[in-house]
Amino acid sequence: MNYDRYFEDALAALKRERRYRVFITIEHDTSRFPRASWHGPHGTRDVTVWCTNDYLGMGRHKVVTEAMAASAGRMGVGAGGTRNIAGTSKPIVDLEAALARLHGKQAALVFTSGYVSNETGIATIAKLLPDCLLISDEMNHNSMIEGVRRSGSDKRIFRHNDLVHLEEILKAAGSERPKIIIFESVYSMDGDVSPIHGICDLAKRYGAMTYLDEVHAVGLYGAHGGGYAEEVGAMERLDVIEATLAKGFGCLGGYLAAKEAIIDAVRSHAPGFIFTTALPPPVAAAALAAVEHLSASDTERARQRTQVARTKARLEAVGLPVLANNTHIVPVMVGDPQLAKAASDMLLEDHGIYVQPINYPTVPRGTERLRITPTPYHSDDLIEELSDALLATWRALGLSLAARRAA
Ligand code: PMP
Repeated sequence: MNYDRYFEDALAALKRERRYRVFITIEHDTSRFPRASWHGPHGTRDVTVWCTNDYLGMGRHKVVTEAMAASAGRMGVGAGGTRNIAGTSKPIVDLEAALARLHGKQAALVFTSGYVSNETGIATIAKLLPDCLLISDEMNHNSMIEGVRRSGSDKRIFRHNDLVHLEEILKAAGSERPKIIIFESVYSMDGDVSPIHGICDLAKRYGAMTYLDEVHAVGLYGAHGGGYAEEVGAMERLDVIEATLAKGFGCLGGYLAAKEAIIDAVRSHAPGFIFTTALPPPVAAAALAAVEHLSASDTERARQRTQVARTKARLEAVGLPVLANNTHIVPVMVGDPQLAKAASDMLLEDHGIYVQPINYPTVPRGTERLRITPTPYHSDDLIEELSDALLATWRALGLSLAARRAA
């Protein structure tokens, strides 16, 4: 039996559809972030990274790297087991207490990634509610979709951020049945935000629970980095807040924050929590340092906002098709998978600028784009360089530009 051909056929199909993924090998250097070395086909070259989800550069911040190094020196690297067997370390317990405080919840539970926290968290919570109906925004992330699927519960999908459609579904479900509305705060590809208060109003009216993914918002929004719900004063209205330690906090891991009873039940029922080795103590210590730093200091948030605003203004001024939003995500629209890939290749090869193209299925066909994420460390000079390089690339590929505006 020739098994190889099945894999080869699958790869050929991806290549035909221009969905074959090419990864770029980057070596970061904490002293000059977001500049980095690219290990490519022509050897090693300097590049500027414009597509990191380490949105605030906390992954290279001294308080974070020092916390990790100190913890690794003292406690070693691996957790030594699942949480049940030897893996519940002091840094994880301290981190969970800090996360519960950050979101104004009774308790928090840490998982090995944001993906796992959604997948196992949603499935477990839904399974604990008899005849539960899951009501999920159509733009929700794959980890939430998988959680919904694994729960085996009935589901209804509401049109993105559409309160009218959501209300129709809630009304039809009736008041007796347990219901959970599952949605995100900042949607990562368009950078739009959900109407959190409007959704909480409907949840209250129709007796539904709310489950909010704040993966692209924690650390970045709210006076203490508690996320978009903190920013709009809605934290106490949400039943479950899920987020990551890997983006705004620059490390790795995910978590749920909620009432004690919910967290305690998930702790004892969620396979994705129970049957896997805990997060390494140094990672938990580093994440705790990032959470504490961003709770107390606005420096990174404020600087990032300034540099995001400058990036958007500059790119718009030269006529680049920036998708408008009120967040830190700067989508520059291309609308074709081959051209998005060509633009990304040209930026890297000719200009030393690394921005990964975003193609289907991550975004709908016809909305392919470059997704730019300025950090507090992208200087005005780097913004200028990005703008010049994008403009040259757009012209070289014959992509459309709006009329130049006064900068
Ligand atoms: N939720 C959303 C909305 C995401 O975009 C992602 C990953 N990018 C995740 C969850 C998963 O988080 P993590 O990367 O920590 O696994």
